Amino acid sequence: MPDPSDVLGRLLAAQQRDLPVHGGRTLAYVYDSGLPEVDRVAREAVAAYAGSNGLDPSAFPSLVQLENELVGYALSLVDGPPSAVGTVTSGGTESVLLAVVAARDSRPDVTRPRMVIPSTAHAAFHKAAHYFGVEAVVVEVGEDFRADAAAMAAALEEDVDRTILMVASAPSYAHGVIDPVTAIAATAAARGVRCHVDACIGGWVLPFGARLGREVEPWTFAVPGVTSISMDTHKYGYAPKGTSILLHRTPELRRPQLYATASWPGYTVINTTLQSTKSGGPLAGAWAVVQQLGDAGYLELARQVFEATDRLVAGIAAIDGLRLLAEPDSTLLAVATDDSLDVFTLIDEINQRGWHVQPQLSYGASPANAHLSLSAATLPHVSDFLSALADSVSAARALGPVEVDRGIADFVRSLDVSALSDEEFEGILAAAGLGTGDGLPERMAPINALLDLAAPATREAVVRSFVDQLSRPVRP
Ligand SMILES: *Cc1c(COP(=O)(O)O)cnc(C)c1O
Repeated sequence: MPDPSDVLGRLLAAQQRDLPVHGGRTLAYVYDSGLPEVDRVAREAVAAYAGSNGLDPSAFPSLVQLENELVGYALSLVDGPPSAVGTVTSGGTESVLLAVVAARDSRPDVTRPRMVIPSTAHAAFHKAAHYFGVEAVVVEVGEDFRADAAAMAAALEEDVDRTILMVASAPSYAHGVIDPVTAIAATAAARGVRCHVDACIGGWVLPFGARLGREVEPWTFAVPGVTSISMDTHKYGYAPKGTSILLHRTPELRRPQLYATASWPGYTVINTTLQSTKSGGPLAGAWAVVQQLGDAGYLELARQVFEATDRLVAGIAAIDGLRLLAEPDSTLLAVATDDSLDVFTLIDEINQRGWHVQPQLSYGASPANAHLSLSAATLPHVSDFLSALADSVSAARALGPVEVDRGIADFVRSLDVSALSDEEFEGILAAAGLGTGDGLPERMAPINALLDLAAPATREAVVRSFVDQLSRPVRP
């Protein structure tokens, strides 16, 4: 047997090239409270419950208790009526998948179900459509990137009988704005259709923003017609990865989400989520973080992250060449550039200066931009970030535009991936610098510039192939 400390040492060493999850400089994927005691409580809670199994609530009653307390706290944030219930899931995507499948299965009379979603709805709704055979009717958003409630109502009226769900975001991930939930939910309710509010990324921060006196467009269960809400503990709940909460206004609305089968010789299955055997670790971690922070802790973290947001909004406005695609309603920013510099080069430059911001490719009326999800822990670094950003703007300007050869650009634009063999496609990827090898190049701008010209289907094929090639077993 090896020395356990050697094994753990290797495990920690393997993380060297990962993005830092602490320090407030990683502005996507991670949410840092900046509070070491919160991280300690989370770590120890996950470890203490790592072996518990949520498969059978009667075998691990502690998990039922933790879940009910966590859901109760979440409901206190979103004006949950006394009838409301909820489930802890593995993440925002699972909450969305379950909201969609519950809506679908509440309507067994509908053979070809459809749901009406704004074009800014999270990718998880497209995944749900794909998995569960629900047609996603995508409605263009307005110029401010908020859902167009009138256009969504018209899309509903096109086929009320087949529509199982309407969707709004609070806020949307890509632009950080809140949809007109009141109007969308009223339309849905008038036709007896469910309305899901995706507050995966806003659910744990907007309620505290409102308590701090910020103006927040109504989006909770206080809005008539809202039937379910998703809110991710592993984002602004500052909990360890692996939990989100899906809330329903009544137990009746949730009932189709509960899956049971006795049609096999083993134990009778009753699952509230997609998983069956399910570690108690993430649930315990989320519960512990919520106990540790409480209302006062979340309020202070919200104050910090909104202060960081306000200072960044003002700071970015003062940098020539940059603009925000939308005034943020929450704590997310989408930063675009003018013609004097390339946005993907800007992203490379800022990332080389010790930050991580996320490229968002152009899509419809949304130009290519840099996405920033702020954390409370970003606040002490705002001035640093703004000076790094200003330096990066100058550097990107000096480097000039990313030149994509005319011929290659035309080829990428017109590429029909469905007509290519795997070998042909992999040849193209290798030529674009995305072939097999050890990971990605230092500068991503040339690759992003190419992808930005490609149709969504080509982008999808590229990332699928890239990840397929990354995923190859390493044998001992
Ligand atoms: C993050 C997010 C999701 C998906 O959540 P995951 O936890 O990444 O699965 C869904 N909707 C919105 C608005 C999000 O920001």
